[in-house]
Amino acid sequence: MPVLRLKAGRDRSVRRRHPWIFSGAVASVEGDAQPGETVEVLSDGGEWLARAAISPSSQIRARIWTWNRADEVGPDLLRRRWEAAREARLPWLAGGEAAAYREIHAESDGFPGVIVDRYGAYRVIQLLTAGAEAWRGELLELAAADPDILGVYERSDADVRELEGLAPRSGVASGEVPPEPVEIVEYGLRFQVDLRRGQKTGFYLDQRENRRLVGELAAGAEVLDCFAYTGGFSVAALHRGAVGVRAVDSSEPALALAAANVRLNRLPEDRWRAQQGDAFEELRRMRDARQSFDLIILDPPRFAATPAHAGRAARAYKDINLLAFKLLRPGGRLATFSCSSGVGPELFQKIVAGAALDAGVEASIQAWLGQPADHPVGIYFPESRYLKGLICRVGGSS
Ligand code: SAH
Repeated sequence: MPVLRLKAGRDRSVRRRHPWIFSGAVASVEGDAQPGETVEVLSDGGEWLARAAISPSSQIRARIWTWNRADEVGPDLLRRRWEAAREARLPWLAGGEAAAYREIHAESDGFPGVIVDRYGAYRVIQLLTAGAEAWRGELLELAAADPDILGVYERSDADVRELEGLAPRSGVASGEVPPEPVEIVEYGLRFQVDLRRGQKTGFYLDQRENRRLVGELAAGAEVLDCFAYTGGFSVAALHRGAVGVRAVDSSEPALALAAANVRLNRLPEDRWRAQQGDAFEELRRMRDARQSFDLIILDPPRFAATPAHAGRAARAYKDINLLAFKLLRPGGRLATFSCSSGVGPELFQKIVAGAALDAGVEASIQAWLGQPADHPVGIYFPESRYLKGLICRVGGSS
């Protein structure tokens, strides 16, 4: 097996079981290693440390499969891990509330670069790295093996594949072509999901519990659902008795599906209004028009994939949060999220505090939100804690 040798003094993160080896830590790769092939990771002194998938064109030069020398990287290991991921989720699914959830959450489930999401009888698989691609056949076989599964759809079309030197690929991988759209149920609410063209694998499954919680704050409220996508928060808010919901998103097809989801749940359509456009501009326009809301949701896309982009991302978060604080009525609430792993929870809280200060409001944090159990955080992999949310309440009039 080819050998990846680390530079002197660069073995610490591997020993601490962080799954990524950056190109700067690599002294040499010996042997003819094809993209995605498994390599033995050795320290500068020649000590065996791990087995990893090599990705010659990526800054993340290798992703570790195992720190256990007895583990052969192959179909058996993949099968065992697949089963372990399934078992880990069982008690969380006992209520049967979530017909859609994440089954494999990449590194945190021992599958670097592999995402598998379940939408009822269909699975969507996403292979994001050279290492994941190398085991494509085995992974697709595992995905199709379940008798409950009617079809497996591949959505290996995320931009990050480019960094790995991989071309995008999407389409039916096995079984039936999924209906267009697929319908799922989330805490009693129905949603249509476009598995083929939707963002990510079709639905932001990681916000499931937060949608339910934020919905509970919406009774009697005028709500602004910013970055609404297909209306997850809008539907939850209307269901809980919001008197009006304004949904803002830049994507026309997302908002069309959001409208369909409002109808599908027989919610009062006259209480929901879509505004297609750039959220930064729309928020400014609403501020200039002196509009106000009781509950504002900010669920923007990822602004910083890595800490290197944290500065730019911080300014973007500050902008929208500042505007949102200005649009809140006294006693109103802001549910604000960040899914940038480059911006940690502490920094995010600091940014939101800075936004409140500049908006000139008193505010308190009523809840810290995160990602659900089907999106686990690798304990040695802090970057996998990517989703952060705060519920802030601004002071009442004094
Ligand atoms: N809240 C949603 C998920 C939001 S994902 C849910 O619960 O399902 C982020 C959304 O932001 C996407 O729908 C994307 O189309 C939208 N978006 C990205 N950039 C935007 C911008 N500048 N202005 C408005 N919407 C934007």
